Order: sequence, then C-alpha cells, then structure tokens
Amino acid sequence: MDCVFCQIIAREIPSDILYQDEEIIAFRDINPQAPTHLIIIPKRHIPSLSHLSEAESSLIGNMVNVANQLAKREGVAESGYRLAINCGEQGGQLVSHLHMHLLAGRQLSPQLG
Ligand code: AMP
Ligand code: ZN
Repeated sequence: MDCVFCQIIAREIPSDILYQDEEIIAFRDINPQAPTHLIIIPKRHIPSLSHLSEAESSLIGNMVNVANQLAKREGVAESGYRLAINCGEQGGQLVSHLHMHLLAGRQLSPQLG
C-alpha cells in the first residue's frame, strides 16, 4: 500500500520507533516542529479521524495513554505538551493514516489554527 506510515509499521522504511503494542506504534517525526515531536498511530490503516467508527473510538483513548507514557519518558510531562490530530485537507492532514502528534520541549504557540 502506498502509505508511508504503513511502510513504517512494516519496517519497509526506517524510523525511530519508541513504542509498540498490538494496536499502536509511536515514532519520532522526521521533520520535528518542536524539540520533542512524536507520532502515535494505530497499526490498522484508518485514513483519518472521520473514518473512525464509534465502535473503534476506544482506540483514541489508548493512543492518549501511550502519548502520556511517552511524555513521561521524554521528560516533558511536567513542563507540558500538546496532542493534536489533523483531519482532512483543511484540517492540515498530509499523511492519510490516522495519527496523533505529541509536541513539547518549548513554549508552544497559543494559536491553534
Ligand atoms: P500531518 O500534517 O498531520 O498529516 O502530519 C504528518 C506528519 O508526518 C508530519 O509532521 C511529517 O513530518 C511526518 N512524517 C512524514 N513522513 C514521515 C516519516 N517517514 N517518518 C516520520 N515522520 C514522518
Ligand atoms: Zn497506512
């Protein structure tokens, strides 16, 4: 499949993987926008948040749990961090595989859009 994140999951392209379980994998963003910039994704190819069924919504809670663990491990849990999910073209989503950004390590802009 022509999906860069599925290729990371399949280890077809290299990435700095920090976490994985049966459902979720997390790695460093290749073009970091903050000193800590991680990507948390489901292993299953779900194109975007708007493709997530109600039955699958617990996945988001599990992704947040992974992000919280990684924030602790990265030493940014106390200083603070931002979790963001871009959805669709006007939401700023470039990679069509549902993903959560974890940004931290500097004062982030209060502006979100
Ligand atoms: P978005 O704009 O929400 O779709 O974000 C996609 C993110 O994926 C961007 O921050 C990219 O830098 C990141 N990205 C794209 N390709 C890779 C890759 N091969 N390894 C790690 N991160 C990537
Ligand atoms: Zn994919």
